[in-house]
Order: sequence, then C-alpha cells, then structure tokens
Amino acid sequence: MKITDHIKNANGETLFSFEIVPPVKGKNIQHLYDNIDPLMEFKPPFIDVTTSREEFVYREKDGLLEKQVTRMRPGTVGICASLQHKYGVDTVPHVLCGGFTKEETEYLLVDCQYLGIENLMALRGDARKDQQYFEATKGGHSYATGLVKQIKDLNSGKYLHDDCEMDHLPDFCIGVAGYPEKHLEAPSLKSDLKRLKEKVDAGADYVVTQMFFDNQKYFEFVEAAKNIGIHIPIIPGIKPIAVKRHLQVLPQVFRIDLPQDLIDAVDGCNTNKDVRQVGIEWAIQQSKELKEAGVPVLHYYSMGKSDNIKAIAKELF
Ligand SMILES: Cc1cc2nc3c(=O)[nH]c(=O)nc-3n(C[C@H](O)[C@H](O)[C@H](O)COP(=O)(O)OP(=O)(O)OC[C@H]3O[C@@H](n4cnc5c(N)ncnc54)[C@H](O)[C@@H]3O)c2cc1C
Repeated sequence: MKITDHIKNANGETLFSFEIVPPVKGKNIQHLYDNIDPLMEFKPPFIDVTTSREEFVYREKDGLLEKQVTRMRPGTVGICASLQHKYGVDTVPHVLCGGFTKEETEYLLVDCQYLGIENLMALRGDARKDQQYFEATKGGHSYATGLVKQIKDLNSGKYLHDDCEMDHLPDFCIGVAGYPEKHLEAPSLKSDLKRLKEKVDAGADYVVTQMFFDNQKYFEFVEAAKNIGIHIPIIPGIKPIAVKRHLQVLPQVFRIDLPQDLIDAVDGCNTNKDVRQVGIEWAIQQSKELKEAGVPVLHYYSMGKSDNIKAIAKELF
C-alpha cells in the first residue's frame, strides 16, 4: 500500500515508522532482523531502507596501488523484499541519483515493480567521499527532481528508450527529502524550499525531513512550505542522540543546530550509556509535542541497535 494511503487510513492518528541501514557487505542479515523484531509490536506500516553510493578505494596489486570501485552496503532492494515477506509491512527503498545511470535506475524500478514494492524515496545522494562537491554520474540525474520525473514517467508507461507497451502500469508513491534547517549546499532556506516545491510539482507524494532537535524548526518549515503551495504530508524525521561524538558529527555532517539544553545535558554525561538515555528522553519530548500537533508519522532514524527507538516508541504508541 502507498504511504499516502496509510496516512489517509490512519484518520489523523500519528503512525510509527523507522529507517534502517543495510549491513556492511559480508555481515549477516540476522543482526538486522534482531534489531527490527522488537520494533514490530508498534506496528510500523512501513520501513525505509537506505542506499549508499559507490566508493573508490585503493588496493595494492602487483606492488602498485589500484583504484577500485566498491559498494559497502549493497542489497537495499533485496532487503526491502525480504522485510515485506517476513513482516508483512510495506518497505521504502531509497533510490539515489549519485552513482547510478538513468538506465540502472530503470532496472531497479522494474525490480521494485516485480517485487511488489510500491513506495520509493527519491534522493540525489551526497558527494562521493573522494569529491568535495556532488557531481552527477555520467548518464545519471543531477538533482532529485529528475529522478522524481523518471519515476513519474514510468508510472505513466514511459520507459527511457523502449516504447513497448506495459501490461500493468506501476504506480509508485514517491517520497522526497526536506530540510527544516535547509540543505547544506542551498544558499538560503527560501531557495531550498523553492527546490522542494519543484520536486513536489514533478510528482512527489510526501516529504520526509532531515533530523532536527528543535520542533519549532519543523513547525516553521511546514508553515513556510504551505505558504508556497506545498500541501503533501511532511513527515518529521527524528534521531535520538546516542553518543557524545554526535555533538560534533551531526552539525558537521548535516549542518543542523542542537539546542543548548540538549548540548548541556549531553556534556554533563560521564558515559555513552548516559548519553543514550538523554537522547531517548529528548526524542520522547520531541515526539510527544509533534504527536500532539498531529503529525502524520513519526519516522525514526535507527542506526544499528534499536533499543533506544523501542524505549521511545513505548512512550508514544
Ligand atoms: C529523509 C532522508 C533520507 C535520506 N536517505 C539517504 C540515503 O538512503 N542515502 C544517501 O546517500 N543519502 C540519503 N539522504 C541524504 C541526501 O541524499 C542528501 O542530503 C543529498 O545531499 C541531497 O539529496 P536531496 O534528494 O535532498 O537533493 P536535491 O533535492 O536534489 O537537492 C540537493 C541540493 O541542490 C539544490 N537544488 C535542487 N534542485 C536544483 C536545481 N535545479 N538547480 C540548483 N540547485 C538545485 C537543493 O536546494 C539542495 O541544496 C537522505 C536525506 C533525507 C532527508
């Protein structure tokens, strides 16, 4: 079922969902299931599965360093299919512009259709680790808007190059990313919002936000989005702080601000176990306020271990 239908059917009740990251190549998928199992009692209607782009690594061969391409966390679509089968939930594979040609994306979309995956999160992706700025892959899309258009084209029966008729049109529901504190490359929040509107006009059905720690930022973002004509659901993304290092890493990587009260509480912790508890409590307060405000879904970013997401969900769902 489409995410937008799950939201409609909930009749104003806030739903619970979360995002998972595929295991590193070579690791057993059982570890992933062990972390998802405890969250299933909160009845997530959907689970997102991230995708990571290719990386270049240098490996020694015959005494020389050879540049090789690798993907450390492959398997997004396979994991989605497996979760749908195992848990009977909908899944949302993240689809990236970076690292993929339009043709490769088309094959991926065809796989999704065969597997009964009805939702996709369309993203540009970040710059490759060896590049300072994002550069479009040769033959790929430069921005998420192009990817949204490609998916919409397929929904209306148009392949990239072939004009064979489809027996059954796909009808993918498309999510896109939104940034309450603006995307790190955007010159201003206003210009970033205009870009979001372009994604919506291209056919996006719902938005999931980047993590934020101050709900006011989300409320203002939703209001500003409405004011420029964005009327699709805007799902807040919540990340519980889990280790002290997040105080440096999250602002650096995502260019987001952390409230002083949260910084002080984390600074006052002696162990990462205490930090994890502070992160849980902060996320519970955030989630309660967002739920009271009637957000459609509370979507949690779970990196690996899910005990903190369970502790939060227990208070909310
Ligand atoms: C909910 C969520 C899930 C994510 N999941 C993943 C994941 O699984 N894997 C992963 O690698 N990354 C993921 N990301 C990170 C995301 O890929 C990065 O934030 C990326 O840098 C931007 O992606 P986007 O889809 O928002 O890009 P876009 O919407 O294309 O925007 C990128 C930048 O370009 C600007 N822009 C857009 N259109 C134009 C235009 N026509 N001309 C000039 N500028 C323009 C925008 O303002 C913005 O600054 C996720 C992010 C979020 C919020």
